[in-house]
Amino acid sequence: ISPCCLWTFFCIPNMIQAAQLPFQGPINCMLKLANLILSLSPATVSVTFVTTDFIHRRLLLHSNTAARLAHDYRPRFRFETVHDGFGPDENPRNVSLLTMSLEAQAQAEGSRLREVLGFGSAEDEMKKPVSCIIAEGLYGCMVDVAKELRVPLVYFDTCSPCCLWTYFCIPNLLKVVDLPFQDDEEGLDASITSVPGMETYLRRRDLPSFCHAYDPNNPVIQLVLKEAQEFPKAQGHILNTFDELEGDYFAHIRALCPNLYNIGPLHLNLKSRIQQETTKSISNSLWQEDRSCLAWLDAQPPKSVLFVSIGSLASMTKDQLMEIWHGLINSKSRFLWVRRPGSIINKDEDTSQDDLEMIPDDLVEGTKKRGCIVSWAPQEEVLAHGAIGGFLTHCGWNSTLESIVEGVPMICWPFYVDQQVNSRVVSEVWKIGLDMNKDNCTRVVVEELIKELMETRRDEFSKRADKMAKLAAQAVAEDGSSYNSLNHLIDDIVSMRF
Ligand code: UDP
Repeated sequence: ISPCCLWTFFCIPNMIQAAQLPFQGPINCMLKLANLILSLSPATVSVTFVTTDFIHRRLLLHSNTAARLAHDYRPRFRFETVHDGFGPDENPRNVSLLTMSLEAQAQAEGSRLREVLGFGSAEDEMKKPVSCIIAEGLYGCMVDVAKELRVPLVYFDTCSPCCLWTYFCIPNLLKVVDLPFQDDEEGLDASITSVPGMETYLRRRDLPSFCHAYDPNNPVIQLVLKEAQEFPKAQGHILNTFDELEGDYFAHIRALCPNLYNIGPLHLNLKSRIQQETTKSISNSLWQEDRSCLAWLDAQPPKSVLFVSIGSLASMTKDQLMEIWHGLINSKSRFLWVRRPGSIINKDEDTSQDDLEMIPDDLVEGTKKRGCIVSWAPQEEVLAHGAIGGFLTHCGWNSTLESIVEGVPMICWPFYVDQQVNSRVVSEVWKIGLDMNKDNCTRVVVEELIKELMETRRDEFSKRADKMAKLAAQAVAEDGSSYNSLNHLIDDIVSMRF
């Protein structure tokens, strides 16, 4: 092998590169992982965090993590950006567009991404050889890049393992004709038998969103298929989960890649490893957090408030907004609702403005009496607040884990990718929430589910959710499964034992 490659392998300090999906969930995970690596590894290890211009601009505006890491760990932490094709005033709405532009960067000879991954920095005085790449799992293309640079590749699959497993089973689903299927009510309830380990509960409606109206040319399907194909080629996989949470299907994932690091719930692992005072002030947010909702929560009775949020990407139509709103008001529950700017789809799928004149008086009055609406909340702190009794969530994996950690039962209203599978597992396997049955968001259904979760079946759900929260806490406590797994990961990074 070449001398430069030899140097890469023997070089401590290491350069750990995080190439990542440019969305809030994966950003949270990657920044937290970077923080843990920096604080638990020897001072010889440094981290370069690679993201797109768009995300970098948002982080500089609203998050203090990047600046804090750069300050606390100087010169071991730095940001590098690659161009994503969007101008400073553009706000990319299309997930696949952003992902594709990074794919193209990874594939293009002489691209900035390649340069940064190869040398740790595009700037001459900061160039250092790379010894390990940690990339978001959706970037199947990183296998080739890592091979070319002759460095180990560890994927961080930031979606849920249960969903990851359904991705891997897509070729199987197609073979036995579980895919494609008719999207009628009866068809949607049919059981899926070709996802080993999930036969007893998975239905067509629980498959990832792109399986509905399956189109093999859909770019997201292409990405996911590539992810499945490249998965076994990485030297290891980091998963944001803990051993005690995972079911029968997990053995199949392990068979594909035995070197798994289950280090979740990551945010709890971070809190337990790093001084409480430091973590309190950390924000990874891509939007300005409105912390006034914490004072509002302080004034509410214990476990009386339903927290409502659909994460950083999902958008609802105006009709759906009205159904949720009426359902909330009719349930008479107190609620804290995150309405992210641009999350309401106006005419022609334009989400650029939340055009909301003509709100019926009863909604305005009911909201004033029992509700609080913010554009972005400090979600982890909100879920940890004693006034929160339930979470109406889109079931993104981070939100699901954050709810589990705080023992908060959920109403699941999934939109896409892993959210459909997660909501089924939350309701049917862990039984810590209710599933809105995907596309059935009427005001009557919303009202009934809220009453069921917050009133009639509250104790039953709380008991199970508390039990699961204890398991999560044990996993990150000293000698717990995720605690040990994180130590193992750090040891392997430092010694390059992949
Ligand atoms: N989040 C937040 N404030 C909000 C809404 C969401 O900080 O008002 C955070 C939340 O804590 C979670 C992330 O955004 O860590 C959303 O990630 P998730 O995987 O749940 O969903 P996605 O946004 O990727 O669909």
